[in-house]
Formats: sequence, C-alpha cells, structure tokens
Amino acid sequence: MLIFEKSRPGRGISALPKCDVEQYTLPEDDMREADLHLPEMAEVDLSRHYTELAKKSHGVNDGFYPLGSCTMKYNPRINEKTASFEGFTQVHPLQPAETVQGCMQVLRETEEALAEITGMSSFTMQPAAGAHGEFTGLLLIKAYHLANGDPQRTKIVVPDSAHGTNPASAVMAGMEVINVDSTPDGLVDVDKLREICRDNEEIAGLMLTNPNTAGLFDPNIREITDIIHECGGQCYYDGANLNAVMGWARPGDMGFDCVHLNLHKTFSTPHGGGGPGSGPVGCKEHLAEFMPGVKVVDENGILAFGKADSSLGEMKNFYGNFLVVVKALTYIKMLGRQGIPEASKNAVLNANYMMNKLSEKYDIAFKPEVCMHEFVMDIGRQAKETGVTAMDIAKGLLDNNIHPPTMYFPLTVHEALMAEPCETESKETLDEAIGVFLALNDLAYSDPEALHAAPVKTPVTRLDEVGAARHPVLRYEF
Ligand SMILES: *Cc1c(COP(=O)(O)O)cnc(C)c1O
Repeated sequence: MLIFEKSRPGRGISALPKCDVEQYTLPEDDMREADLHLPEMAEVDLSRHYTELAKKSHGVNDGFYPLGSCTMKYNPRINEKTASFEGFTQVHPLQPAETVQGCMQVLRETEEALAEITGMSSFTMQPAAGAHGEFTGLLLIKAYHLANGDPQRTKIVVPDSAHGTNPASAVMAGMEVINVDSTPDGLVDVDKLREICRDNEEIAGLMLTNPNTAGLFDPNIREITDIIHECGGQCYYDGANLNAVMGWARPGDMGFDCVHLNLHKTFSTPHGGGGPGSGPVGCKEHLAEFMPGVKVVDENGILAFGKADSSLGEMKNFYGNFLVVVKALTYIKMLGRQGIPEASKNAVLNANYMMNKLSEKYDIAFKPEVCMHEFVMDIGRQAKETGVTAMDIAKGLLDNNIHPPTMYFPLTVHEALMAEPCETESKETLDEAIGVFLALNDLAYSDPEALHAAPVKTPVTRLDEVGAARHPVLRYEF
C-alpha cells in the first residue's frame, strides 16, 4: 500500500516552532492551483511504513550482494559517524572560506589522495555520480580540442563491452560513438582500433574501463592509449571499476588523460535507491585549466576557493555531494597505504575463488585464467539443455537470500550473469553462495519448472517484467 493511500486528513507529526517573523502572503498568481497531496500520517505509522518497505528489499546488510560492476561492498559504520560531525553538517555553502577550513581541508586531502591513487594531477568533486563524471570528463576533452583549434574532433571510440552509460554520456556531450568490437577473448581488438584511428582527424578520444566489465585487465592497454594519442585523441578512463586495481595500477600510468571514480562504489559510501552519489573527475595537467567547479587553493596558509583558468563552468551547485566525500576520505584514511591495495587484492582473490569453484558447473565467459574483481558466467548451455535461463537462476538466488548478479550484461554474452563478490565477504559467505549456485544448476536439470516458478519465498513473487517494461506506471493518480 502506498503512503498516499495510508494518508488521512488531519493526521501529522509536524512540531514546528511558532513562526517569529511577519507572515507574508504570496500573490495569487504564484499560488498552486491544485492540492499538494502531501501524505498525512502519525509518526508511528510512518515509521512502520518505511520499516516494512526496508524489509521487502535486499541490501548489503541482509545478505550477499554480488551485483557485478556495482561493487556492493560493506560500508563501514565509521564513515557515517564522521559524516555526521556538526562541523560538516551545520555549515552553509556560502560561508566564507576562513570559517570552513576543516571542510576545505577534506576537499583538498581527498583531491590529493585520489590524484595519487589514479596518477592524475587534479580532481573535482562536483559530479554527482559516475555517469555525470563521464559527461564532465568528455566536456573536458571537448574543451581541450576546441582550445587547440580542433572542433572537428567529435568521434569517440567505445568498446562493445562498455558500460551502457559510456555511449550515453558521449552522445550527451555532443559526440558521435564509434564502436570497436572485442576479440573472442573479450579484449579490445587492437588491429581494428588502429584501423579506425589511422589518419583520422575526427577522433576526440577513447572511453575505456580497465579491467573491463567482463573482469579482464587488458594487457595491451599501453598500446591502446598510444594509438589514440598518436592520432590526436584523448583517453578517458571509466574508473567505476577501480576496486580491482586501486593501489596496484594507476590509470595515469596506463596512459589515460582523465578519469572518473565512483565514490559510491570503490570508496565505500552507500548506493542504490537513487543516491546521493559522487563521481569525482581527475585529469592530468594539460586538462586542468578546463576543470569545473571550485578549486581549493592555498593562500598563505589559508585554504581559499579558486577557479581553473578556462573553467568549463559548473557541473553541479557548490561542491558536489560533500558528505559523500567525507565518507570516502574516512574510508581512505582508515585503510591507509597498506589497506588500499589489500582491499583490491582481496576483491580479486574472492572473485577468483568463486570463479574457480563455480566453473565446475558453470561456463565462464572468455575463460580467463585469472579474473579481476568480477567474472561473467554464461548460462547459454543450461538454457539450451534445460530451458533454464540466466533470469531463472537469478530468481532462484532470491529464494536463497542472495541478490542476483548483474544479468544480461555485458551484451557480448547472451545469457550473462556477472558476479562481483567484493573484498568484504568472508570465505564462509562465499562458500555458502557457491553451494547455492551449484545446487541451482542441479535443480535446472532435475526440476526446471521449479526455477521457472521462482521466487516463491520473497514478499513479491515472479513479476511480469515484460508488462512492466511495455506499460510502465510511473505516476500515482490521485
Ligand atoms: C556504475 C558504473 C557507471 C555509472 O555510475 P553511476 O554512478 O551509476 O552513474 C559507469 N561505468 C561503470 C563501469 C560502472 O560500473
């Protein structure tokens, strides 16, 4: 039942102090014509409503959540503690810099830490999410080409294994996407890339995530970025998957010119349910003059707000989602120089452990000897032999209190289940999940109907997904 349906006129929980300023009545023209329809409820009913909703969903606190490419790691509680300090919450974005030196120091130190981790020279915290960061990075590349008198550089090369946001961001930035196919082992086809780029003065650059969405680290990465640079393009690194390599390999050293990170993945701030997120963008020196937003500068020992010389403007109001930055900095400081590489080492170890155990019954796409933070199972064989699809296996997992892996992605594998266990899971949790996956495979052969009917233990059972996609009901009609 929706909160609007539970609403009763006259109920409420507002306990506002008496108004101590003169009342002001808006001109008639500025008034709403229809009722606002805010739900009216007692506090106890409101509390129960949201508790009930929370029980119906699956979060990291409920159980294993191997949703590939989303890095659903556990977010340490201490992050919440620092983000709730009054010095960070009871400030106004228009306060003079000298009164918020602590906040400025957080921005400065996060910028420095992320620059060191990625091999970039400066960072902006303004972008609110990964895709927003991609858009920002592409605008940087665009500004660079325009400043160099190269307005015709509008084509961006994106591999077919890319995250869906990559081509979408490119189009939003006014660029045209050129797809480059993968080789049969799931890597960028270097020969095809060379062919696309040869004497091509329209190439703006390349967008790549490495390791890619199949969990493969591209061994040709230096060659790939060289090809782009040789034809005058810039290289954009989608750093949402940094969980696999942080502390070990840096996009800057791989030849990338700019990068975005998802603080709400790798750097352990909660995500899902629509945010808030944070997608900081870093770049090398030659792009820094175009950076958006504020730049924290040191003026004789006092931190002050500055701007890049040819700044492309604002990507978001003020400083981005500042409290997300506080959480990420807490995470970085808690792990330190030893903990950061150890976290990614364990993320890779956990993924390899699972991949090897599951390969007993499941086909692994591209068959890597060693995967990075995630791997892709191909359910094609089971689908052919039993009729049980990746979707059915995913639904079966729900009945076992496991969130399904990412389904039907990357698009290069038809019956894909892409699993990312993350470093925060214990061997016991992984073993239990492996047991469930193997049992579901056996169930596909012994009783496929049971899997077609799953889930049966969840608050809502099998949904009509086609119906939901064809006839979406996105508005509540009063
Ligand atoms: C999650 C993700 C993104 C998009 O991040 P959002 O914060 O959801 O916009 C982009 N690229 C990759 C590889 C991702 O995993």
